[in-house]
Amino acid sequence: MDFQISDRIQTIVSMINEFVDKELIPLEPEFMTRSFKEMLPVLREKQILVKKMELWAPNFPSDCGGMGLSLLEHGLVSEALGRSPLGHYVFWCQAPDAGNVEILHAHGTDAQKQRWLNPLVAGEIRSCFAMTEVDMPGSNPVMLETTAVKDGDDYIINGHKWYTSSADGAEFAIVMAVTDPEAPKYLQASMIIVPTDTKGFNHIRNIPVMGHEGDDYLSHAEIMFEGCRVPRENLLGAEGHGFVMAQERLGPGRIHHCMRWLGICRRAFDLMCRRANTRVISPSGKTLATRQTIQNWISESAAELEAARLLTLNSAWQIDNVGASEARDSISMIKFVVANTMGRIVDRALQVHGGLGMTDDTILAWFFRHERAARIYDGADEVHKTSLAKRILKTYT
Ligand SMILES: Cc1cc2nc3c(=O)[nH]c(=O)nc-3n(C[C@H](O)[C@H](O)[C@H](O)COP(=O)(O)OP(=O)(O)OC[C@H]3O[C@@H](n4cnc5c(N)ncnc54)[C@H](O)[C@@H]3O)c2cc1C
Repeated sequence: MDFQISDRIQTIVSMINEFVDKELIPLEPEFMTRSFKEMLPVLREKQILVKKMELWAPNFPSDCGGMGLSLLEHGLVSEALGRSPLGHYVFWCQAPDAGNVEILHAHGTDAQKQRWLNPLVAGEIRSCFAMTEVDMPGSNPVMLETTAVKDGDDYIINGHKWYTSSADGAEFAIVMAVTDPEAPKYLQASMIIVPTDTKGFNHIRNIPVMGHEGDDYLSHAEIMFEGCRVPRENLLGAEGHGFVMAQERLGPGRIHHCMRWLGICRRAFDLMCRRANTRVISPSGKTLATRQTIQNWISESAAELEAARLLTLNSAWQIDNVGASEARDSISMIKFVVANTMGRIVDRALQVHGGLGMTDDTILAWFFRHERAARIYDGADEVHKTSLAKRILKTYT
């Protein structure tokens, strides 16, 4: 293993850290009180600055307009950007577009790339990914009810999806639908590109999540597909290969999430330490930092953060150097280790802030509300633990 960071990446990461501190963190009070749509003009101004700095789309392939960073390199960038909820969006490497770019780049036809991939990488349009269904367990994704039935040169899609993140304002969705119910279960579903203005693509609502229904990029939609007709040329990759393609994007997507979560840990940790040092809690001038409980939280958080970070960097290094399949166990581990590390560190930081932590005067309450989902999406923690344990136990039989 070699986590040596090149001078180029060190420079990029410090430029990003500075940008996040100077340009994005000051926008957060406004971000917490306004809708995302209202924030778009100022976010676009920041995006122009990012393009001028030649830091646009760091993880996207260079042949379609991105910087083409390796997974480990982008992991470090993602960590720096994760310190603010605006980081990934402004530098244009946000989920779910990042995953969709990867799929389109690897499997799209020339025509699909021209129509969807190029404007997506350029930041002219957004996309979403519709797999999870209201009535089916997302934890067992082969159980899908949404169907895409061939009719002449078209597919007709019917189904009920939800948690289609960022569908509000997206130009197209990549929809996972069953194209052959008779095929072996992992070959039943396909990915199909569906423009969101297609008749039968019915955006029911943005789901209220933790008291916040959000809008535009920052939202999760419920969508009803009712006789939604798209040309068969909108099929992405081979028919029946939906799960194979979803599996491919899993490893890199996990690193992006985990490094973003580590950025959140870092921000929460910094806030916790600063507050502990400055909050006076006795007439003699003693601060919270003098109390052993707080000291324990700080030491535990520092150690947990470091351990989670090394595990994640190791995973990224393995994927870059020996491939995702060899890195399988490590990819499973980081999902639940980092999600829970983040939960604990944000919780401790919020507690150290007392009543202030519950307000939107710091970013902590926002992290607390929005990032709890980390233990659920990208595969619930319990599912990853089960499959990891099965693989470990197999080696003992
Ligand atoms: C904020 C957020 C954003 C999302 N964005 C998207 C998106 O853009 N596109 C998309 O398609 N989906 C998205 N999802 C959906 C997400 O992928 C699913 O919620 C997830 O896969 C879990 O599926 P489920 O909600 O149906 O839970 P279920 O499958 O019903 O599982 C419920 C719980 O049961 C437990 N459980 C399940 N299986 C097992 C098992 N084998 N062993 C032990 N315990 C188990 C777990 O604790 C799990 O949390 C998002 C979800 C959230 C919260």
